[in-house]
Amino acid sequence: MRLFRAGWIVPVDGPPVRDGGLAVEDGRVALLGPFDAVAARHPAAEVRELGPGVLMPGLVNAHCHLELSHLKGRIAGGDFTSWVGQLVDERARDATDPRPATAAAIEAVVQSGTVAIGDVSNRLDHIQELAASPLRAVVFHELLAWNPSAAERALGQARIRLSAVGGARPAPNVQIKAAAHAPHSVSPALFKVLVDEGGPAALHLSESPDETRFLQSGDGGWKAFLEQRGLGDVWFEPPRRSPVRYMEMLGVLRPGLLAAHCVQADVNDLRTLAAHGVAVVVCPRSNRNLGVGQVPLREMISVGLRVALGTDSLASVESLDLVDDLALLAREFPEVDAGRLLRIATADGAKALGFPDLGSLARGRVAALAFAEGPAALGDPLAFLLSGDARPRPVPA
Ligand SMILES: [Zn+2]
Repeated sequence: MRLFRAGWIVPVDGPPVRDGGLAVEDGRVALLGPFDAVAARHPAAEVRELGPGVLMPGLVNAHCHLELSHLKGRIAGGDFTSWVGQLVDERARDATDPRPATAAAIEAVVQSGTVAIGDVSNRLDHIQELAASPLRAVVFHELLAWNPSAAERALGQARIRLSAVGGARPAPNVQIKAAAHAPHSVSPALFKVLVDEGGPAALHLSESPDETRFLQSGDGGWKAFLEQRGLGDVWFEPPRRSPVRYMEMLGVLRPGLLAAHCVQADVNDLRTLAAHGVAVVVCPRSNRNLGVGQVPLREMISVGLRVALGTDSLASVESLDLVDDLALLAREFPEVDAGRLLRIATADGAKALGFPDLGSLARGRVAALAFAEGPAALGDPLAFLLSGDARPRPVPA
């Protein structure tokens, strides 16, 4: 039995506790309350004084791309489609080993107080590093092929990569699930094979105006992008519906799917996602940096969607610190309840990734903790966590 004492404890699924005590037994939360009361119940417990600040459940970054970490600062930006083009070219051109940057990014994520991640990967070449980390990870093994004739080959290559790393459960803390990149970069044929196999488990969806336009009318910036890349001749009948409706038509929407971004989705799209039990993961800094629009957070909440938070990759954001996205969300949506915003970064992300025992400090949950040092006179711990000034760090339980 170990007892943690902190200026504040924010349990996420209950009110904050000033001068809080948290008893942890066998790595799980045993009791939470005012320190004196918790200490009286467990007089023999070893006490760890954390001091002024906020003790909380560790953060859940539900959408990142660790394997793009070596591209930090190397993609100039511009509009979304030109950013994608630069990303593809830079990855193809770059001959250096990306793994040292990926390993450093994993360590930075751990040190930011994050305890679980949804990590999108095309290559699966950092599974060992994840397995050696304290993170719990769902790796979304992302497939991408616009030419329908490449669908079977893409799937075959994915199977080879998966078996090379030890299958879908290569380590107790790592699971790998098949994923698709996006409605306008994955052929209907590849979606079909993924759906037939029970996937995809993740997808970028309704991220940019170019994506919506291409699916509605078959033209615009994405059409030009495909032509530049020698894919202009691939036969594609535009479905003439929104990306969300198109995915519904292909049978992609189902419970367990995590749809990233959805900034261009309207309220009917969001209702459709909710009706199919899809969870969304929003990445506000990435959306801002790529100029694709603002997250329709109020509408997502009002239609009852489960909303998670992600950083996206170092190719589009400055850091993998989830609190920076939380702070931006709080600035963009001051009217949304602070407790709800914090849940998006913790408990709701954990549920979206399939980790119901993370993300809150309810009794029996895994004590995967983070502590943000703060001023002694801290009056509002939630406002502090949303301010951008809080820097959560991991707490060994
Ligand atoms: Zn992404």
